[in-house]
Amino acid sequence: MFKAILIEKDDAGYRSHLTELDEAQLPEGDVTVKVEYSTLNYKDGLAITGKGPVVRRFPMVPGVDLAGVVEDSSHPDFRIGERVVLNGWGVGEVHWGGLAERARLKGEWLIKPPAAFSARQTMEIGTAGYTAMLCVMALEKHGVRPEHGEILVTGAAGGVGSVAVALLARLGYTVVAASGRPASAGYLKTLGASTVIDRTEFNAPGKPLARERWAGAVDTVGSHTLANVCASTRYRGVVAACGLAQGMDLPATVAPFILRGVTLAGIDSVFCPLAERELAWQRLARDLDPALLAGITREIGLSEAIAVAGELLAGTIQGRVVVDVSR
Ligand code: NDP
Repeated sequence: MFKAILIEKDDAGYRSHLTELDEAQLPEGDVTVKVEYSTLNYKDGLAITGKGPVVRRFPMVPGVDLAGVVEDSSHPDFRIGERVVLNGWGVGEVHWGGLAERARLKGEWLIKPPAAFSARQTMEIGTAGYTAMLCVMALEKHGVRPEHGEILVTGAAGGVGSVAVALLARLGYTVVAASGRPASAGYLKTLGASTVIDRTEFNAPGKPLARERWAGAVDTVGSHTLANVCASTRYRGVVAACGLAQGMDLPATVAPFILRGVTLAGIDSVFCPLAERELAWQRLARDLDPALLAGITREIGLSEAIAVAGELLAGTIQGRVVVDVSR
């Protein structure tokens, strides 16, 4: 038997609870993992609370990421005792996920984490941090360099935002952090933001084009915020869009794209090809200051995950939440 969060949906409604499951109930897969840590990402918050249509099969064990040790494997690339990390691939949505003491997965979904990181550190980073790295890599791929000017990060005090600020600052960029929490200004400056601005500058309907300011941006918020970020991005600047914390809509015009040559780069971490995700993890080992990681992380036990999922969606959590599934 193993402990897990289980989401059920039936005539009695949508509910998440901590329970014990039998290993025989685990889904099909060629690698069984003893999970050590998982995390709470925004998507896990939506899944656990039922506030977003994340879960597409019931009953479901949530948790879009996990770190642990191989307990059993018929996959040629993974041996018993090896450390593995998983992000995405529909895990926690259509396949049982990481908020449990055991997971059975397809070996092709797993990566071997950089030796520099402990299992806890990989989940301090989690899908949020790995997505932040994909956003930074997209800016680089499209030619944004530190000397080009300021980079804006929206939703900056959240998980993706915090890691994006830390990564960009370490790589020499001048980072402007947009946040709705004035009390987080000191935290964001510790991570490397040069300036912290109020998110109300972006979250209402704006003009098709605004004063050119950003050489690049990482947007975790979507909706009017993303539209206004594109409108204020400089000629040939790049916006990496990965999130929808304000909304899924994009009430924008094509003006920034056709008049200023702005590039809107979409970021998906879930089905990102293996080679790119391995590169992202190698880059995280090189470009993220591990001393900052512990400072942006709160650790909870599996038994607290349901309560903390509500806090995450309420926007009251700063940085990352790592889940020790053994308690
Ligand atoms: P968090 O909840 O940790 O952070 C989201 C942040 O967005 C909040 O901390 C807050 O920042 C800001 N925010 C929240 N509500 C609003 C609002 N109504 N208007 C403006 N800003 C708001 O989530 P994560 O960092 O884990 O994820 C961020 C987004 O990225 C989510 O939408 C998530 O689904 C998405 N995501 C996408 C991935 C992909 O593969 N594309 C992978 C991972 C995440 P502040 O307090 O600083 O204003």
